[in-house]
Amino acid sequence: MRATNWARNHRWQPAARAVPATEAEVVALVAQARERGHRVKAIGAGHSWSDAAVTAGTQVSLDGLRRVLAVDLATGCVRVEAGIRLHELSTALAPHGLTLQNLGSIAQQSLAGAIATATHGTGLNNGHLGTQIVGARVVTGTGAVVSLDAQDQRLDAVRVHLGALGVVTELTVAAVPAFDLEEQAETRPVAEVIAELDAIRASAEWVKLWWIPHTGQVQIYRWSRTSAPRRARGGLAGLLERNTRLSYGPILALGGLVPSLIPSLNRSVFRTSFGTWSRVEPSNRVFSMAMPPRHRELGYGIPIARTAEALAWTVEHVERESVRVDFIFELRFVRGDTAWMSPAHGRDVCQIGAYVARSPDRARFFAAFEEHMLALDGRPHWGKEFSVGHELLRARLPEFDRFDALRRQWDPAGVFDNAFTDRVLGPRASA
Ligand SMILES: Cc1cc2nc3c(=O)[nH]c(=O)nc-3n(C[C@H](O)[C@H](O)[C@H](O)COP(=O)(O)OP(=O)(O)OC[C@H]3O[C@@H](n4cnc5c(N)ncnc54)[C@H](O)[C@@H]3O)c2cc1C
Repeated sequence: MRATNWARNHRWQPAARAVPATEAEVVALVAQARERGHRVKAIGAGHSWSDAAVTAGTQVSLDGLRRVLAVDLATGCVRVEAGIRLHELSTALAPHGLTLQNLGSIAQQSLAGAIATATHGTGLNNGHLGTQIVGARVVTGTGAVVSLDAQDQRLDAVRVHLGALGVVTELTVAAVPAFDLEEQAETRPVAEVIAELDAIRASAEWVKLWWIPHTGQVQIYRWSRTSAPRRARGGLAGLLERNTRLSYGPILALGGLVPSLIPSLNRSVFRTSFGTWSRVEPSNRVFSMAMPPRHRELGYGIPIARTAEALAWTVEHVERESVRVDFIFELRFVRGDTAWMSPAHGRDVCQIGAYVARSPDRARFFAAFEEHMLALDGRPHWGKEFSVGHELLRARLPEFDRFDALRRQWDPAGVFDNAFTDRVLGPRASA
């Protein structure tokens, strides 16, 4: 049976599939693959737009390794099997009064898969998800098991591992005491947002911006800790938001059939779904939304100081080139960190994302957007669509060679190589 990712932009035929239920089974599988000169590639939830999990070798699903192994209430450290889904982890933490410090827009990903690509949420007090990791166990390409604690510098390689270092079997996460968030949402004209970007970004602990193309408006989300009584978003808009695949999917399909309608469809979605509201809910329910309709994404981490410039360029480009964009355009903010392959390595970034569902203008929009984000010193989001290769990435990521050296040490025979690692890290022949 062929495999596919969530967005269905990649379909592939693995030679074999395995769903190990223990670390020992992973070790045996990798050792056998190495002996036979075969390739192995782990897969989590298959939610990457990039081809990171694609393989013609053996596809190892971590679905059999998703239990919580230990919860240390004194430190908040939680040891889990690496295939656990983020929503399963949040559910397991709740009875202990614990939660994750930050999450991205959905929680369907596996933990190991999410950190592989530096999955992030927003808020300059927060790094990407891998920054919450304080320990890991990895089955390397030699079949050895490496166990890393927070003092081990190599943990900074595993925090954003690209699926290139081995099969991650266990992770320890530093959870935090559970907290509620108040979401305050408002819309502002995009020109005002560009002019006041620094102040808006600093106006709450967590700030996320959605420019709605063809409306001239930006939806601003601000999230702040609160002990106020919980209240969900009510009314029709709340219902639509909790069911975006049903409510929004048919509108995107119509735009795909008649692209000239896209600008007016965006305006009607804006009127029905966006505006001013507030709600109070547990943090994980505010961070992550209902699964959206199927769409494509390209994202870059750019230096924070270039955010306004990047948004202004995109707004102007879409207008000038008559690009029909049928999805939101997103800006989130991520604290700089020390992970070797992090797009935020050594600098705070704006994670800026161009998204398209059915518009026929996707390819030309993504190409122009990517070129501009590279001109702004951007680094790609590893889980999204990007076209740059190892020559440029080596120049952009100060610890690139260190990561590549560890990969070659842990996986000398290239058991975990695929077209993605060849493109991003360089093929073995160039060693
Ligand atoms: C609807 C949607 C919303 C999203 N929202 C966000 C968001 O808010 N923020 C954000 O940053 N990203 C977001 N993403 C992107 C997503 O978080 C990343 O692509 C993430 O890597 C997917 O996790 P996964 O478990 O599906 O991993 P997969 O896509 O299955 O795999 C990703 C990589 O991890 C490797 N891998 C997986 N498990 C293991 C393991 N146990 N050991 C070794 N390697 C492993 C794979 O080989 C591959 O290289 C979103 C994606 C979708 C579809």
